[in-house]
Amino acid sequence: MSPIPGSGLAKGLAVTLRTMTKKTVTAQYPDVQPHLPPRSRGVIGLFEENCTVCMLCARECPDWCIYIDSHKETVPAVTPGGRERSRNVLDRFAIDFSLCMYCGICIEVCPFDALFWSPEFEYAETDIRDLTHERDKLREWMWTVPAPPALDPGAEEPKELGAARKAADKLAAAQAAENTPPAGAGPADEGGPAGGTGPASGQGGQG
Ligand code: SF4
Ligand code: SF4
Repeated sequence: MSPIPGSGLAKGLAVTLRTMTKKTVTAQYPDVQPHLPPRSRGVIGLFEENCTVCMLCARECPDWCIYIDSHKETVPAVTPGGRERSRNVLDRFAIDFSLCMYCGICIEVCPFDALFWSPEFEYAETDIRDLTHERDKLREWMWTVPAPPALDPGAEEPKELGAARKAADKLAAAQAAENTPPAGAGPADEGGPAGGTGPASGQGGQG
């Protein structure tokens, strides 16, 4: 059966009318910035103070696009007669974003919270080699990482916060002790034996 003359035109017009009434989804990027969810996987930031060079992220990365170099350093004993310790010092940390597939495995496996997602995505390059971001650039991304969502009311405080507060209190107490002159101390005390203050009190604090 031959088609009714003009039916094709009517179908086409029907499609046009249907799509004309739908909400447009075209984004006018880059004139208009997209509204991305705060946890979008844009780029990875490195907080290198937390990195212990354990190499877990580099080992687990399916694309082998994390490059880490380090060396060992000996840390002297903190107490007399104590043992020296050795620790890893980071020399290089780089991620090649031309290979990265944004799976997030490196961030998931990092046991020390050194890697984070940032929603920033505007880092296209004309030279593919520039997509390897070295540690300085990875650190800069860190400052674009959004703050974590607020805890639920009545939720238990994360242990990291408690530990950080304890360390800050300890530091403040040590600084206050340094700035407080010993009671009754004066020029006359300088030549005399150490009293109840000074190094002896510091040792008491450690014990
Ligand atoms: S997101 Fe995935 S592919 Fe990219 S660096 Fe991390 S582990 Fe590798
Ligand atoms: S897993 Fe975390 S701590 Fe270990 S090397 Fe990678 S970033 Fe550093």
